[in-house]
Amino acid sequence: MANEPQSLFNLCAWAIWNPRDPWLRSGPARPACAREEASRAHSQTKILAVADEVDESLYGDALPALVPDLVLACGDLPFDYLEYLVTRLNVPLLYVPGNHDPELRPIDTTWTPPPGFIEPPTAGPEGCINVDGRLVEESGLRVAGLGGSIRYKPGPNQYSQRQMSWRATKLAARIRFQPASGGRKLDVLITHSPPAAAGEGQDPAHAGFVAFDRLIRRFHPLLAVHGHVHPYGRVLPERQIETTRVVNVVAARLLEI
Ligand SMILES: [Zn+2]
Repeated sequence: MANEPQSLFNLCAWAIWNPRDPWLRSGPARPACAREEASRAHSQTKILAVADEVDESLYGDALPALVPDLVLACGDLPFDYLEYLVTRLNVPLLYVPGNHDPELRPIDTTWTPPPGFIEPPTAGPEGCINVDGRLVEESGLRVAGLGGSIRYKPGPNQYSQRQMSWRATKLAARIRFQPASGGRKLDVLITHSPPAAAGEGQDPAHAGFVAFDRLIRRFHPLLAVHGHVHPYGRVLPERQIETTRVVNVVAARLLEI
């Protein structure tokens, strides 16, 4: 059949798993091709990417069997779920906030809340790294992030196209001027919303950001992951912007780059 992988190597290269796949639901056994690939000398990085919906299949033996090098979380997930993932896997977890997350601010221990103040500042999930508006290096990858969605109602982590363009411009300056040990300035872009050119939803609340298209076309990361657009049980196909893979990772995807 035309769409089936033609060899074991292709089958392994094709291995973008959805943890809802029966392979993972059935228990910790890893598929033969994964064992072959693990034994093969390579420099690929295995990434578990999550967003928007808790994947119940990750509460069990299937999780450690995935052996990712890195976890990326694209927002709108309970903090205790992210803390569970980072604790159980013991690998770096980088995240950006979604539009349903609280406003995240560093906790200022010198600040005393005024009388009647209800919402205390939150530093986000413990043990996880907030990459919103930042560029970090983890597992040999340069990863940059931009959280939030298009503004469609009152609340934190929502931006107009113009506001997100300004955030992306500042991030681009960091990417450009922060020295890179290798040749590539950006390996992975992690966002909550999709780029406008790939994967945006049909309604105004799930519009993509033009600024993400521009970042991708400028720096050509290997991978751009996002959430926000719910696939409702379907596994959405990967998209492409020039040479960059664009993947909607709701609820969880295992990727290799
Ligand atoms: Zn969202």
